[in-house]
Amino acid sequence: MSLIPCSTCRKRGAEKLCQVTWAWNPRPGERMAYRQRLCPSCFIQRVLPLDKPFDPADELRCPSCGISTEHEMFPVYATSFIPGSGKYALELPLCGDCATNIRAAATENGELLADREPESRGQAPRSTPQETAWNRLGIVPRE
Ligand SMILES: [Zn+2]
Ligand SMILES: [Zn+2]
Repeated sequence: MSLIPCSTCRKRGAEKLCQVTWAWNPRPGERMAYRQRLCPSCFIQRVLPLDKPFDPADELRCPSCGISTEHEMFPVYATSFIPGSGKYALELPLCGDCATNIRAAATENGELLADREPESRGQAPRSTPQETAWNRLGIVPRE
């Protein structure tokens, strides 16, 4: 069991929580980052839908609503550490409205991180692999 509740549903589940760091630049040269701990079902609802296939030939599109963000985007970087799987990093070229919503959601029970804190800190030591809800997601680590 996890002693820490999920940041968004506030439940303590049987599964280890995934650590997600949401980062963005409110102004050039400034970085804002919040860390949440999500259970598998909140991860599936909040992070996985943003992982849209990216076609290098197409223009950039908001991964949340699909409009073109080629000329104006508000990027958010979501870096997750999946128990038993590893790092799963997404770069999200969001539109203004979706960036506002996603940044607000990231602060929900999120821990405000000091500027430029190394992202690997706090990563749980690897334990013996076992079948968990995280393994079943089949997430391939990505830098
Ligand atoms: Zn949850
Ligand atoms: Zn959007």
